[in-house]
Amino acid sequence: MSPTVLITGASSGIGATYADRFARRGHDLVLVARDGARMEVLAARLRAETGVAIDILPADLTHEADIARVAARLRDDSGIGILVNNAGAALSGGIADQTGAAIARLIALNTTSLALLAQAAGARFAAEGRGSIINIASVVGLIPEFAATIYGSTKAFAIFLSQGLAFELGPKGVYVQAVLPAATRTEIWERAGADLATLPPMMDVNDLVDAALAGFDAREPITIPALTDAALWDAYQAARQAMLPSFGNTEPAARYRG
Ligand code: NAP
Repeated sequence: MSPTVLITGASSGIGATYADRFARRGHDLVLVARDGARMEVLAARLRAETGVAIDILPADLTHEADIARVAARLRDDSGIGILVNNAGAALSGGIADQTGAAIARLIALNTTSLALLAQAAGARFAAEGRGSIINIASVVGLIPEFAATIYGSTKAFAIFLSQGLAFELGPKGVYVQAVLPAATRTEIWERAGADLATLPPMMDVNDLVDAALAGFDAREPITIPALTDAALWDAYQAARQAMLPSFGNTEPAARYRG
């Protein structure tokens, strides 16, 4: 039997598209976001079109108690075998324009909830020797030059989290995928206060999710739908790994010694 899929940020955009695709593949769903009424509309359509069972779990993933409720569902519901950690937001402006409160909210949503939900699902999946975690990161997590410093930092966290979890949980039978979308047409831009007239051309959300699912089916650790030459990512990882032996040195490198 197909495992149930819990999707965060399922009320719109990438998350709603994952819901559509997994329902068409015959998976029951648990949908998580703040807007319960909107998820109900999506669920009613998908139930009618596909016949799968869909639960709605309204939650604000910037709130500790709500994160704990969703984490408990992931721990206790052994029918859930796939977590799509997708809920997220962006923040307009540069660091000097942003408030501490907005930065703290973004970090709670884009990193804290991601880690706690991955931990809850990952621990059970590892004990069962199966299960998958999909973390929606962003190419911005690779681009400090984009000047979206806080958002990019949260997405770099999502990439590292995925790589670390894959290393820890992969040998226990858990598959972890990081998906790095580039600019994709969703509500995230309006929500962050962007001027829609000035936005560049973007990838269609259906194409993005279908590509991400092709990567999922191939069990890729990292899926970057917009990246033409996949060998560039491999070279980037090889450069990082080539540094690792030096990190065991007990003496500073020669250039730091007088
Ligand atoms: P979106 O259409 O704005 O969707 C964001 C989803 O997250 C919505 O379902 C929203 O639902 C939910 N959400 C927002 N705040 C929440 C909160 N406090 N608690 C629970 N759920 C919350 O944007 P999207 O583009 O699909 O974004 C999905 C993911 O893709 C994000 O992690 C984003 O960073 C990533 N991404 C997007 C792009 C892009 O260009 N679109 C590029 C790279 C990465 P409610 O409002 O109902 O809570």
